[in-house]
Amino acid sequence: MNVQQQIRAASADSTEHFGVVIAGAGISGVGAAYHLTKQCPGTSFVVLETQASFGGTWRTHRYPGIRSDSDLHTFGYRFKPWTSAPIATAAEILSYMGEVIEENGLGRHIRYRHRISSARWSSEENLWTIEAVRTDSSEAVRFTANFFWMCQGYYRHAEGYTPEWKAMETFKGRIVHPQQWPEDLDYKDKKVVVIGSGATAATLIPAIAKDTAHVTMLQRSPTYFRTGRNAIDIAETLRALQVDETWIHEITRRKILYDQAVFTRKTFEEPEAAKKDLLSAVEAYLGPDYDIATHFTPKYRPWRQRIAFIPDGDLFQGINSGKASVVTDEIDRFTETGILLKSGKTLEADIIVTATGFNLSANGDMEFCIDGKPLDFADTVTYRGMMFTGVPNLVWVFGYFRASWTLRVDLVADFVCRLLNHMKETGAKKVTPALRAEDHNMPLLPWIDPENFNPGYMMRGMHLLPKRGDKPEWQHNQDYWAEKDEFPAIDLGDRAFVYE
Ligand SMILES: Cc1cc2nc3c(=O)[nH]c(=O)nc-3n(C[C@H](O)[C@H](O)[C@H](O)COP(=O)(O)OP(=O)(O)OC[C@H]3O[C@@H](n4cnc5c(N)ncnc54)[C@H](O)[C@@H]3O)c2cc1C
Repeated sequence: MNVQQQIRAASADSTEHFGVVIAGAGISGVGAAYHLTKQCPGTSFVVLETQASFGGTWRTHRYPGIRSDSDLHTFGYRFKPWTSAPIATAAEILSYMGEVIEENGLGRHIRYRHRISSARWSSEENLWTIEAVRTDSSEAVRFTANFFWMCQGYYRHAEGYTPEWKAMETFKGRIVHPQQWPEDLDYKDKKVVVIGSGATAATLIPAIAKDTAHVTMLQRSPTYFRTGRNAIDIAETLRALQVDETWIHEITRRKILYDQAVFTRKTFEEPEAAKKDLLSAVEAYLGPDYDIATHFTPKYRPWRQRIAFIPDGDLFQGINSGKASVVTDEIDRFTETGILLKSGKTLEADIIVTATGFNLSANGDMEFCIDGKPLDFADTVTYRGMMFTGVPNLVWVFGYFRASWTLRVDLVADFVCRLLNHMKETGAKKVTPALRAEDHNMPLLPWIDPENFNPGYMMRGMHLLPKRGDKPEWQHNQDYWAEKDEFPAIDLGDRAFVYE
């Protein structure tokens, strides 16, 4: 008996077995649980979640104004209609997810306050052994599973990313990362500087501007934004016609996805025209005298980074009111009273918010082993951004950046359920993605092509991520419009899947 088997035997009584273990109860994990109950009825499963409740991103982030920048018709699941305004607050998203859990009896499958620490695959037993720590009692708990469905997202929830700037420690005010927004933070009549101009900054600034003395968005370089009404015409029309909400959801999804496909194509085929569309919408709010060239005109082609949606132009209205402003410059150092910029200007601040992004975590900070050998995901090649060469019976949900994340949650779930049913029918206990003979000379590239998409947290963490090939099977191409047809057509008999 090897050491692992001894440990397992010693704790056999306390080990629970499930057909599937799902990591995380965010939008991906709850979606996975729903699809398992519908498409693989009878499969036993458990969802293990570190936090005290469901929601993931929407529970972790509690800064003022936290909201989606995708519409909820497509960020919501395809199976549950979204019936309110398309851009939703975190509270509304949590309430929607709560309904999904309640309506489908998923609650009894979720174990909260369970942080998974390790996952070890044994080919002898064709099982994952998954160890977790209860965050309330520090008790170690153990599960075995035939299949591991990783829905733990892509960033570390415990802490956001804050760069090291010179003399940060000298600043006398508070430095806050939006991922750990302190409940007691009083910004009333205070001078606030928000570093960064991504979706978080663009959401936070209009939410706090009116209460602060002034809020400055300090950016090294500009970001593209889309703006418009927080409403979707076709949904409003169908609702006025008293069409059933299920139909409204489906038709509105199709319309949104059609429009997004047209715009995405335009960013590749006519980038200058796409850029003009985006910038003229900003100018409509800020007027011809505002320096849009400096503050809102990025150097990159639209869609190489996520384009945040600004409902009703609220960020621009904050700027027009004089309560908010944008500074495009670089930080030289922090001072006791604010920030000295490379241009020599200073920004006075009582509070500095570092809206500077995430720490990428590809594996939920779990230790992985395959047959006793530590697994480094960076040594694997991804099968369509969800499975990995040499890693049996495991799928990771990594959604879209140019379209709503959840579109891929539903697509991956259909695939996993089809795979599980196929394995049941054929009696296979193990499926491992492997490069086929025709793939052996394929160039191996970083997870994502920086020419295609290059947000900072991806660039910082690229070395941690699996490799990509140059064929559709061996990459996550971020293209919902291709994958919506390709995924249902995946041939489970393809030699990329090795069954035992
Ligand atoms: C502020 C913000 C706004 C966003 N807005 C949008 C948007 O509008 N549209 C869009 O498409 N995308 C958006 N995103 C991206 C967003 O993260 C995803 O869309 C989506 O919410 C991710 O869902 P998820 O369930 O895959 O992961 P997460 O939401 O990250 O949830 C993962 C869950 O897994 C748990 N977990 C992690 N590790 C472990 C472990 N070891 N053991 C047990 N549990 C673990 C975590 O506690 C968490 O609850 C946004 C991201 C942020 C940060």
